[in-house]
Amino acid sequence: MKCLFCGFVDTKVIDSRTNEDVTSIRRRRECPKCGKRFTTFEVYESIPVMVVKKDGSRQMFDREKVRRGMVKACDKRPVTMVQIDEVVNQIEKNICNSLAQEVTSLKIGEEVMRELKKLDQVAYVRFASVYKQFTDIDSFIDVLSKLKT
Ligand SMILES: [Zn+2]
Repeated sequence: MKCLFCGFVDTKVIDSRTNEDVTSIRRRRECPKCGKRFTTFEVYESIPVMVVKKDGSRQMFDREKVRRGMVKACDKRPVTMVQIDEVVNQIEKNICNSLAQEVTSLKIGEEVMRELKKLDQVAYVRFASVYKQFTDIDSFIDVLSKLKT
């Protein structure tokens, strides 16, 4: 961060303070050249990520929706809410880190399936059956047989 006063490029952070909401941070900086101090304020840049659905329509990414789908699939299974939240956080992070402004619902569904497969196979099959909307027994057996490999 460039010095506000003399333009020197290599200022030092002398103190960092996270705000109460933990989504922003204040940094006290000092310029080693002119000795002046100033404060910077960092916040997340919130870029709305749009989810492109199968029919081509778009809607804002909604982590609650992902979470609800997983909770439903994990009903009465030995998967904790903490584990579900970890997966949702991971998926949200992947989406935000990609810097893409659009993600397909297909990709989100596949990420959820990949994680569920590791957590609980019954939950995985349940989620897959809703997500893939099995129309025949063959595609269902196909998913089941892939589990065994
Ligand atoms: Zn300076």
